[in-house]
Amino acid sequence: MQRKKVLINTDYPLLKTGLGKNGRNLVEYLYNTKKYDLYYYACGMVYDSVEYERLPYTVHGTMPNMQNEMDAIRQKGEYWVRDCAYGGYNLNRILKEVKPDVFITSNDTWGSETYLDNPYIKEMAANFIPHKTYDSVPFLPNQIEYFNKVSKVYVWADFAVEEAKRLGKNNVSKITGIVDPSHFRKLSPFIKSRLRQKFGIPEDAFIVVKCSRNQIRKQFKSVMEGYAKWKKINNPTRATYLLFHTNFTEPHGWDFFRFADELSIKREEILTTYVCKKCKNYAVAQFQGNEHKCPFCHQDKCFNNINIQDGVDEEQLNEVYNLADCMVHGADAAGLEITCIEGLYAGLPLATNPYASLEMFTKQPFVHEIQCTFGVQHGTQFKRAVLDPNSIAKFLQQTYTKTPQEIDKISRAGREWALSQFSPKVVCKQWEELIDSLPVLDWDQIERNVQSKQTKDPNAIIEEIADNKEWVKQLYSKILKMNVSDNDSGLIHWLVQLQKGANRQDILNYFRHTATQEINKKTFTLEDQIKQDTNRKVLVVLKESIGDVIIALGVLESLRKSYAGYSIYFATDPIHFEILDGNPNIDHIIPYVPFMEHELACVSKFNDKGLFDVYINLGISTQRQLNYITNNNICI
Ligand SMILES: [Zn+2]
Repeated sequence: MQRKKVLINTDYPLLKTGLGKNGRNLVEYLYNTKKYDLYYYACGMVYDSVEYERLPYTVHGTMPNMQNEMDAIRQKGEYWVRDCAYGGYNLNRILKEVKPDVFITSNDTWGSETYLDNPYIKEMAANFIPHKTYDSVPFLPNQIEYFNKVSKVYVWADFAVEEAKRLGKNNVSKITGIVDPSHFRKLSPFIKSRLRQKFGIPEDAFIVVKCSRNQIRKQFKSVMEGYAKWKKINNPTRATYLLFHTNFTEPHGWDFFRFADELSIKREEILTTYVCKKCKNYAVAQFQGNEHKCPFCHQDKCFNNINIQDGVDEEQLNEVYNLADCMVHGADAAGLEITCIEGLYAGLPLATNPYASLEMFTKQPFVHEIQCTFGVQHGTQFKRAVLDPNSIAKFLQQTYTKTPQEIDKISRAGREWALSQFSPKVVCKQWEELIDSLPVLDWDQIERNVQSKQTKDPNAIIEEIADNKEWVKQLYSKILKMNVSDNDSGLIHWLVQLQKGANRQDILNYFRHTATQEINKKTFTLEDQIKQDTNRKVLVVLKESIGDVIIALGVLESLRKSYAGYSIYFATDPIHFEILDGNPNIDHIIPYVPFMEHELACVSKFNDKGLFDVYINLGISTQRQLNYITNNNICI
């Protein structure tokens, strides 16, 4: 069997984000099967870097190597910078270099939007696999559009499959995130005690952990409120702590100490994780700024609060989890919260709120469901969970008073379930089976197909050129990808219009609209496309020849006047399409098919299935007969 080339597009595998970890787990599993040639297209990284050489598969980044290229993208605007980071800018380059048989893009729902109009992606059909982290309901129109444009979409959580089904979309399946359990397990009571001693924490302390980016959506404040309430109501006798394994100075993040003061939580009860850049040792301590002297290797300014570049390794993260007695993880929206899975692997009792992917957890009997209400996010109007601190306080008191035997029972059930859902053995196997089910692609054929379909560009950037002729020629070349001569009838038409005082913006809009329609045509059948047009419709048929088609252009202008408000369809052999492209008197150019010889088959008056209201066959008119029943005798 031919080895398949698999291209994976997601966060860089050494980045400690959910997507980065998932990508790394997938690529490592596939690497170990020895079945595939593997390529990685890493979001937000430069295209070439020596750093990639330490990985055993080929890596390229999504961003240009040259600063001046990046500057040009910045000038186009924020949307294009983001598109570039996800992979849109270098997409053609990576596809042409790798020629993948399978292309997996694992990303946020607003990532890789421009992929859908890429001609190579369209040719790849089902071998292009979008794996999207839907994290909220209701879905936005452009998120739904994804289901319409792609043969199959994969999501990370059950709720997204259910929501898609509710919307009548049946091409959506779940492949969840992969979380490697090999570093996560419950440590023995002896090791746990030693860890606490090491960081100066009382051995019998009660510690609540929350591990995530310090983002507003991660609901740290509710956890603090729940913790404060619990202490106030129950007065626990043991020392208690909140362990926030996060970055205290992340831009736009929570200001923990401000809320601690507000809620009367002692600042020294809030712990976080520090790591040394040089020797990689870590410690858990109260947050006190960055760039400390490392207590382990004694080098200056290298001991910092963890961040997404410099974090702890998985073995150390397992120790951080094992310092704690339970995990409280609230999130107002959630694609998949990997920390919940790691926490269950490490045997922690878990509390979380039932929304989006978190429902997978709260449905389990060993997980405490944090009661929540729902608000609406400004702008997107997504549902947003608002957590009830009382429900968190209740969980803390229950966990605080449980016996070690009761906790062990919860730990075992949680770990077993998490392994059955998220371990590489289970999830990577699904990826492997999916990849193996897809055919090997013929890239020579794909290249030929792409070249033969000149791709229109409705979003091309048009420069202001004073000379009308050069300006219109620019519209043809940049938007419709056509080079027209000075005596081209379409060009002459537009120049006359401009002389008469037509507005340049209107003409530009017309070209963009034409290009968009051309692109859409490829995703619909002809019949669907015609049925979607609610205007009354004229069908002009002229199968051949090129000479006749050019002569026909002359009659189109008067036809447009006679049938004001109608959509004019021109059916001809596709080899003549280019002559007609951009002609203002034609709304749709469609391929000629033999049934169009028969007027009765085409018009709605005599046949319910007829698609058109008026029929004009220029070939027959010129050669045999002149008048046809529907021409100037409009059917109602
Ligand atoms: Zn050090």
